[in-house]
Formats: sequence, C-alpha cells, structure tokens
Amino acid sequence: MMRAQETQRRAAEMVVEMRRILAAQGKKIRIMEVCGTHTVAIFRAGLRQILPEGVELVSGPGCPVCVTADDYIDAAIAYAGMEDVIITTFGDMLKVPGTRSSLAEAQAQGADVRIVYSPLDALTVAAENPSKQVVFLAVGFETTAPTEAAAVLAAKKQGLGNFFLLSAQKLVPPVMRALLDGGETNVDGFLLPGHVAVVTGTATFDFLAQEYHIPGVVGGFEPLEILRAIHMLVRQIGMDEARIENAYETVVRREGNPVARAAIDRVYEPATVRWRGLGEIPASGLSMREEYAQYDFARVRPLAAGAVGDGRHGCRCGEVLRGAIVPRDCNLFGRACVPEHAVGPCMVSVEGTCAAWYKYGGGR
Ligand code: SF4
Repeated sequence: MMRAQETQRRAAEMVVEMRRILAAQGKKIRIMEVCGTHTVAIFRAGLRQILPEGVELVSGPGCPVCVTADDYIDAAIAYAGMEDVIITTFGDMLKVPGTRSSLAEAQAQGADVRIVYSPLDALTVAAENPSKQVVFLAVGFETTAPTEAAAVLAAKKQGLGNFFLLSAQKLVPPVMRALLDGGETNVDGFLLPGHVAVVTGTATFDFLAQEYHIPGVVGGFEPLEILRAIHMLVRQIGMDEARIENAYETVVRREGNPVARAAIDRVYEPATVRWRGLGEIPASGLSMREEYAQYDFARVRPLAAGAVGDGRHGCRCGEVLRGAIVPRDCNLFGRACVPEHAVGPCMVSVEGTCAAWYKYGGGR
C-alpha cells in the first residue's frame, strides 16, 4: 500500500514538473519510443493518458517482426514447403502475412513449422531429426543476436551439419540514423530501448546527441521507469540540452555486455539489409561471416527467382514504423485489418504499434 502511494506520489511529481517545463516551452514535445516492448508497456499502463497534453509519443521501428520485409516471410514460407525442411521459429512469426500467405497457413497445409522458445531449442530439433534440414528464423535486434550466435557456435562444436539460421538480424542505431537522415521523422528526443542497450551499452547512442543534437534516455519497462525516462527527456529538451542518459541503471552499463558483443562479432559482420518501409540501410543488419556460411540457409540453399513476392498492397506499416503516420491514418486500421485478420505485421505482432492501438483504443 505504502509502495503504491509512493509510486503515485513520484509519478504525480514528475507530471507536474513536465507540465511546468511545457508551459515555459510553449510548444509540444515529440518523443519516439524506439522499442516495441516500450510501446506496449506504455499503452498497458495508460501512460499516454497521464502524460501532459504537450507530450506526444510516437512509436518507432523497434518491433523486430514488424520491420522484417515481406520477401523474408515469403522465403521462410517457400522453405517450409520443402519436404526435407523443418522451420523453427518464435511464435509471433507464425501469423505474419507474406505476399501471398503466412507460415500458419503453410503449417495448416502440412509444412513442418515448429514454435521454439530459443534458437538453442532448434539445435535439439536438429539433433533429433538428422535426415532433415532444421532452420531457425533469426529475426531480431542486438537483444537476440548473441543467443543466435551461441547456437551457431554450439552447432559447430557438436558437429551438427543440419542446423541453419535464416537470418534477418537487424541493428537499432543505424536505423535511427536513417530515420533522422530521411527527414520524415521529426522528434525532439528518443526513449531508447533498454533490452538493446543491455547488449550495446549506452555509448552506441552518443551520435544522436553529438551529431543531431537530439537527447536520448535508456528506459526500463516498469511504468514508473518509463515515466522517469520521459521526464528526463522532457527536462533535457526544456533546457535545450542533448545527452544520452541512462534511466535503467540496474541492468544497463555504458559499455554494454562485452561477452554478448564478442559472441556477435565472432559469428556475424555488419551488412546492408532491407527494412520494411525503410528500404536498404547500410550496415544496419548482421550477416554470418564466411567462416560460418555453412549455417546460413539462404547461402546454402538459395531460392529460385520468383519465389518471393513484392509485398501486400495497402498496408502502411512502413510509414507507421517511421513515425510518419499513426495507425488510425491507415484506411485499413480496424476495418479490413484487425488482429484476427491482419493485413500487415504491425497488427500481428504483440509488439506491433497497430495491434497496441487496436487493443488499447489508440490513446492519444
Ligand atoms: Fe498495415 Fe494493418 Fe497497420 Fe494498416 S492497420 S498499417 S494495414 S498493419
């Protein structure tokens, strides 16, 4: 009881101070929450409703499933249709629509698609099915890359020749730079992704302040932690300052996690990759080094031309991910596109902005 009261008191104090800063500013402050987990946590806690009127939150490209381009989904579906292939994946990839269908539809038609909870589980599937090629769909950011690298290293150590990744690994700092350079994403500050920063450290985001004069604060995921990070951002913006601050000190260090970063560096190298709605961005993804090419399914078993489509038309997920529109600006939102019949990944993923707007009523 005492703790709840203390939380409410601290939250109220921060809101009051933000109001004071906004009143002195005389303008709205636009903050992008980069991470999909933040998006959902903000909606779930009702933070949009308690923030002062002048603070606008806009969601960014931090939902890994959402930023994965159609051609990757199409490729995964094409591989799933092969007799000797088992696809292993996190559950949130299952219903993501490709150009013509989804992995869930492929599964219903008999494809061997299995949900796993870690790439290391996929190793077990590979060991149990030596006559099959077992492919893990490596979709994610810096947060998941170390475990995927560890799975590749373990496969090599165990001599497992039938385990592969279909990699769509992406990196957060380069896409933020691309957003800012694109000129369409006008924000005053960034709520930086706590889970990514655990691996990368805070220093990787210094360029925001140094080159763009935009502040960033790494935030935790509890409502009060998020509110504190937003409060710190509003304070910096109010004083026209730009620094990278850490409001998730319990787990995030300036230098990140050197062990996790070393695992990534050992297996992967930076690569130009395609993002949904953003196109190709230099050095914004990870490709397996030549030494580990035998675990890269796209290289081991390239698909014939025409196996992947050119995406679904009408979905504006790409613009949502750039913060250029909000979901209600899409004509399909809540009509043709609902979670049960999603047109785009932003409505499928639990971390998708469209799904969060639909589930929680859009906030403001
Ligand atoms: Fe795409 Fe559906 Fe979101 Fe529209 S509402 S942008 S169709 S996911």
